[in-house]
Amino acid sequence: MATSESTQLGNQGDDSLRADDTKCVFCVIANCKTENEILCRDGELACFRDAKPGARHHYLVVPRAHVGNCKSLNREHVPLVERMVKMGRSVLQQKNVMELGDVRMGFHMPPFSSVPHLHLHVLAPASEMSDRSLRFYGPQSYWFITVENLLKQLKSQNEVK
Ligand SMILES: [Zn+2]
Ligand SMILES: [Zn+2]
Repeated sequence: MATSESTQLGNQGDDSLRADDTKCVFCVIANCKTENEILCRDGELACFRDAKPGARHHYLVVPRAHVGNCKSLNREHVPLVERMVKMGRSVLQQKNVMELGDVRMGFHMPPFSSVPHLHLHVLAPASEMSDRSLRFYGPQSYWFITVENLLKQLKSQNEVK
């Protein structure tokens, strides 16, 4: 099953909340209904590989229950996002990534988050990412917000702009 967003371009721009978990690809994967290998899972979150890696390590951490894209978040989601980061770090450690300072984590900004289920991109090593990859996952990318910026915005303005 394709997990990459680029295969989902038909959905681009459609970031409405989808509660129908039989249609949302990340709901299906996060609840182990596909062949996708789940690298880490708890009652709340699941982590699996991005099908089109933008770095040597590229994982996605998603809530198992459907949550919409990052524009649907507010201050109350700060602990959830922090738990997603924590799972991302622990999967990197499980994969023997020791340099946790050389990691990029963040979210796609709508309408570029073509899978409309909240997912944290976890990439490492950030210093080895190609220019192409930086277009999609760079701190300056128009399409991407780092988790640090997202948390700052949620805490200070209660939304993501
Ligand atoms: Zn979903
Ligand atoms: Zn994304």
